[in-house]
Formats: sequence, structure tokens, C-alpha cells
Amino acid sequence: MDNIFTRLDKFGLADVPKDKPNIFDFELDMQGEKGGGALREEGAAPFDIENYVYVKQFNCPVCEKSFTTKAIKESKLRVMSVEFDLHPVCHPIDPNFYDVVICPNCGYAAVKDFFKNITSRQADMILADITPNYIAQNYPDRLDVDMAIERYELALLNSMVKNARNGEKAYICLKLMWFYRIKGDVDNQRLFAELTLKGFSAALIKDDLPIMGLNGDTITYLLGALYMLLDSKNSALKFLSDVVISKTASARLKDRARDLKNNMR
Ligand SMILES: [Zn+2]
Repeated sequence: MDNIFTRLDKFGLADVPKDKPNIFDFELDMQGEKGGGALREEGAAPFDIENYVYVKQFNCPVCEKSFTTKAIKESKLRVMSVEFDLHPVCHPIDPNFYDVVICPNCGYAAVKDFFKNITSRQADMILADITPNYIAQNYPDRLDVDMAIERYELALLNSMVKNARNGEKAYICLKLMWFYRIKGDVDNQRLFAELTLKGFSAALIKDDLPIMGLNGDTITYLLGALYMLLDSKNSALKFLSDVVISKTASARLKDRARDLKNNMR
């Protein structure tokens, strides 16, 4: 939206659309069951975060206390599109914002599916280096991108303290890269793209796959996409070509890799 009206600067109107962010005040139903393209029904209920969250209980593997947190009903979301680096653009909220679980008692934080995966030695590291300093924060049910970033950065710090595997750290950096793009922060997007690239390159060689549902072909594709983002064309083409000729990659992933290669030319 920001770029559409920059030409109106000469009329002194460049700032006006900021008060009117939407050209159309409705959403297109791109993935409707009957073929899509339909407008959302008139009189549809206004957005209420309570319709998309539920209470989930966790037992903290570090301090052994239990706590509850809000989790997202992902089945209620619609995937509108998937960006070149596999960021799913969802409606009406981005479920990735909500994927970090934080223990309010000890400050242990991790991506939900990694939360239980911690050895007693790693738990001791969290208790020694995180817990004594940790000040719990309250969050509303609906998180904005800055809250998501601070929660993921806490998870990233925890992953460093507990010497997590490359793949876990890379996965957190991937999400942070997406969030900084949402914010329009190009420098930090680049920074986290480099970190993700580093982490997944090492994970591909050393870690057990898949990592959070990402198999070797998907990670290879991501490396190609990240090299492209970072303007390393030769490396990007190499990894994307690896996906295209892979015997195990899905047809869909191969199509994506081909499209990205064509876009680069
Ligand atoms: Zn805890």
C-alpha cells in the first residue's frame, strides 16, 4: 500500500492514504470451497481473536511447574498465498506469531514443537543463565509483529544458552526474517536471512532431518531462496537446480524452484 500513492506527493496528498489504508474494505475469499473468488458474506462477524485461540496447558521441562498459554486454532485460518521463502500468508492472523511458548515461572522459551525436547543438562543451563534474570511479561491474546519478534528473540537466546542444534536455531531465525520483512526492516531481514542460511547449511550436514517438518529437499530449496534474497545468484541457482533434479522432492516444490530460477533470469 505504501508505494501505490507515492506519485501523489506532487499533489500534496502522499500522506492522506495512511488514514485510509484499504482501497476496498472487504476481503476476497481466495480459497473458498466452491472454487474461490467469492466475496465474504455480508454481515460476517467482525474479527475477534477469541474465535481463533484456545487455552493450552504446558508442563515446563525446566522448572517442572505447569502453566497455561493461548494457542491458535490453525484450522480456522486460510492460507492466502505462500511467499518465495515459504512464508505462508494467512488470513486473518499470522499463526507464526504465536508459535513460541514461554514459561512464566523460569523464562524458558522455545518454539512449541521443540518445547519438550530438552535434556536435564540443558535445563540446568537455562536455570543458571536465564531464570535468575528473567522478568515475566504479560501479552494480550492478539500479538503484533513486535511482540512476536521479542518472543522469538527470547527463544533464540534460550536456544543459544542450551546449545541447541543448528536446525532449531535456524528455524527461529527463519521466522524472525519473515517478521522483519513484515515490518519493512530490510537490514534485519538480511541479517536473519544470513543467520538462517548459516544454520540450515550446517543442519543439512549434521542434524537429523526433518526439522520441524522441513525435509532435506525443502531446506535445500530454502537455501536457494535465501541466497537469491542475498543476491548470491550462482549459489541460488545451484541449490534450486538441486531441488529440480532431486529424486525425492515433490512436484510442487520442484515447480517452485523452477519458478524462482526463471524469475532470477
Ligand atoms: Zn519453567
